[in-house]
Amino acid sequence: MKKITLISIAMLLSLYCSAQSRPTFQKSNGPGQINKNVSTQPIQKTTNTSLPAKGKLTLRSNGFIKMKLRLPFAAKEMEYMVRKVGHYYILNDDIIVGNDFPKTRSYSIDNGIFTNYKWDNAEIPVVIDKSIFENNMQNMVVGALNEMNTQLELRIVARTTQEDYVRIEFSSTILGSGESPVGRQGGEQPLFLAKSATKATVWHELLHAAGIWHEQSRDDRDKFIQINEANLTDGAEHNFQYESGNNQGDYDFCSIMHYSANAFSKNGQPTIECKSNNTTAPCPTCMGQRTGFSAQDIKGLDQFYNEVSRFASHYKFILPQASWRFCNKCSGMFFDGYMDKGSCPEKGQHQAAGYNFQLPHDIAGTATSQTSWRYCSKCYLLFYSGYTNKGTCNQGGAHIAAGYNFVLPHDVAGKPSTQSSWRYCNKCYVMFYDGYAKKGLCAAGGAHTSAGYNFVLSYN
Ligand SMILES: [Zn+2]
Ligand SMILES: [Zn+2]
Ligand SMILES: [Zn+2]
Ligand SMILES: [Zn+2]
Repeated sequence: MKKITLISIAMLLSLYCSAQSRPTFQKSNGPGQINKNVSTQPIQKTTNTSLPAKGKLTLRSNGFIKMKLRLPFAAKEMEYMVRKVGHYYILNDDIIVGNDFPKTRSYSIDNGIFTNYKWDNAEIPVVIDKSIFENNMQNMVVGALNEMNTQLELRIVARTTQEDYVRIEFSSTILGSGESPVGRQGGEQPLFLAKSATKATVWHELLHAAGIWHEQSRDDRDKFIQINEANLTDGAEHNFQYESGNNQGDYDFCSIMHYSANAFSKNGQPTIECKSNNTTAPCPTCMGQRTGFSAQDIKGLDQFYNEVSRFASHYKFILPQASWRFCNKCSGMFFDGYMDKGSCPEKGQHQAAGYNFQLPHDIAGTATSQTSWRYCSKCYLLFYSGYTNKGTCNQGGAHIAAGYNFVLPHDVAGKPSTQSSWRYCNKCYVMFYDGYAKKGLCAAGGAHTSAGYNFVLSYN
């Protein structure tokens, strides 16, 4: 496994708090925005890999571009041959090293030691884009994340409001099965999967996102392998450029980060041949394997992310529940996942507007989150179930808690892909949007009255 030794960075401590506090009064962080038509919401792309200055690009006839880059963990700027695919610049077939998007937040060269390319707390927050669901890949992806969580000292967690995170997206235009930048980039960063992606693709690309480079691009690889250019398709010699960072551990032919013997072959003959003591040797059969992590992959990653105790607790990646919407009649948050949307206090059915919110559930609350938010099986609204009194339901009687125990983050500023100004009404106990003058009709009479925390919800 290849990587650089880094100075340990100060840990952010997750302060877990089991005590459930009553919602308390708190000033709003200011208005959020409701987009009236969810289908036209732009997905903000804020990948901030450093781009070369203009004039550093030279287009070659085979589609490769010469580019000067200082790669994550590299000591200095170097020239590389990259390909432009969509809005992204791609090194060695699957590594995103730049993009066309404006820079808003970046962990690029700022302090010379690049500690920020490592993820805090050994946790990579992940959002699963709706394009993954549209291509029916969510079970494969979630399965891959959970298998990874049981094997590595690195946790893949469902993003709540973290500022830096990976969005796992489907793409029909990438070169291979997957694509990712190396290391934490700052803000949202993509991890693209093609239809051909398997669990191993998810693992390989997430190790890139974690900060790991390719094994066959180590700077000492010439002692162990020989690239046979005669068998390579045109231009594929550029897929074996040396990458940045230091080497840690022995050369690992069996790494999930190693390309296969026939990678980019034009004739079915080997493109990677193996050496031992500078003479040709048969390649281990494990080379290019995509069945799982090699022993050395696990050891190397454990050393890289040594902040948590291995196997002390397996984090289970739970898909947040989507389909929570704002009703533009009653301003309440209701579950939009059924045909029947429930009765609106303002008459008729709830009417979905704005973002599709994703609510985390079945996880422990923290000092800045609150559990005991439930869905009412009568009115479909989200209400606070932490008191004996469940509030007045617009269907008569009190709310009836059903489904997941949702955990809602509060007391944090709104970040990209989140919306604040969600408040609890202390008369009907329902969660409603407090960002407009009109707060909607309360089932207990009059308009909703905002109380408690200013909740900040993630949306897709
Ligand atoms: Zn790769
Ligand atoms: Zn409504
Ligand atoms: Zn109800
Ligand atoms: Zn109310």
